[in-house]
Formats: sequence, structure tokens, C-alpha cells
Amino acid sequence: MSATSLIKELREQVARLHAELPRNELVVWTAGNVSARVPGEDLLVIKPSGVRYEDITPDNMVVTDLEGNLVEGDLSPSSDTAAHAYVYKHMPEVGGVVHTHSTYATAWSARGEAIPCVLTMIADEFGGEIPVGPFALIGDDSIGRGIVATLRGHRSPAVLMRNHGVFTIGRNAGAAVKAAVMCEDVARTVHISRQIGEPVPIAQADIDSLYARYQNVYGQEPAK
Ligand SMILES: [Zn+2]
Repeated sequence: MSATSLIKELREQVARLHAELPRNELVVWTAGNVSARVPGEDLLVIKPSGVRYEDITPDNMVVTDLEGNLVEGDLSPSSDTAAHAYVYKHMPEVGGVVHTHSTYATAWSARGEAIPCVLTMIADEFGGEIPVGPFALIGDDSIGRGIVATLRGHRSPAVLMRNHGVFTIGRNAGAAVKAAVMCEDVARTVHISRQIGEPVPIAQADIDSLYARYQNVYGQEPAK
């Protein structure tokens, strides 16, 4: 497939996936964003800055290089583009990145506390606890560096950036959106569990076996 038709397809995919963020109550106003790597090119497709979710279309998605410089599009790229770009540049296996300030997961990030692996669903999708990344200010590559430093070599596709929110990665943008939805869901459930007592941990051997099964057997079906 040519780069032009790949980009056209990814503009449609990324625009469509943005609708999942408000649908799953992960975002308010214009916060949050989804991006996809353009395979074989040093490019990514991402939401423009400051556009309301109901106004997102394939045509107003923007294309940048892996330094975050605008390559294609009429609007300026999301202010989080540098963080997405840094992840693609340093984690070649990543094909999609999502960022949200979803309420429960962000509440954990405000406490600087990892979400413990106390549900089979957490073992399945995250392979253990959902880790906390460092506090980082927007404006340079420090958010990107914090994401990569935390997730590289980690099973979890989600990181709770301290006092900020969630970044998730996936082999494609659909998988990263799924991880963002699951992250918020388990953050809420574990929070509620804490209100009635102390959640019971899952043995490491059971976490390993759940993760292996989910990733290798159940995970055969590609995320759309
Ligand atoms: Zn943010």
C-alpha cells in the first residue's frame, strides 16, 4: 500500500477511534487524544489541538514526523504530540498511543500509586500492576521519556503519569484505545474494592498464567 493510501486509512481509523473516548467517558471537552504510527514511515497521525470530539473528522486529523513537526494538515497538532512522537521513536513495536485524564485512573496517578493486580482482568490485559510514571511538565520530551522509561520492558500497556493522567500503547491504535478503556475500568473497580476493605492479591504464578493465556490464545483476534 502506498504511503498516501495508508495515511488516508489511518486518518479514518484515528478519527473513528476518537469517538470511543467520550463514549467510554474517558474525556471531557477537548482533552485526550489517539494517534497511530504510519507503518514504514517516520510519521504519525494524531488529533489536532483544541478540536471538540463532535467536530473530529478524517480530514482534520493531522500528520507529523517523529519530532512532532506538522507534515500534513490545516490545524496545529495536539499539544501532546511530542509525547506520542517520542514513544514511536523509541519503541518501534508500538503502533498506537492514547492519552486521557480518565477520572479513576487519574485519581490513582494523583496519589502516585500503582494499581495493584487484584483482578484477573488486570492480569489478562496488564500482566501485573499498572505502573506509575514520573511527574513531567509538558513542553519538551520529558513526558515521552517518562512513558518510555516506565513501559519499556514492562508488560503493562498503560502508565499512570504522576499527577497527570494515563498514556497507553498498543501494536495499533485500536489496541491502545482498548487498554485505555480497560485501565479506567479496573481503576474504578479497585477503588471501590478499597472502600470496603483491602483487595486480595493474586499469586504471581496465577498472574503469569492468566497473562500468557490471554495474550497468546484469547489475544489471537486482532483488535480493530
Ligand atoms: Zn494530559
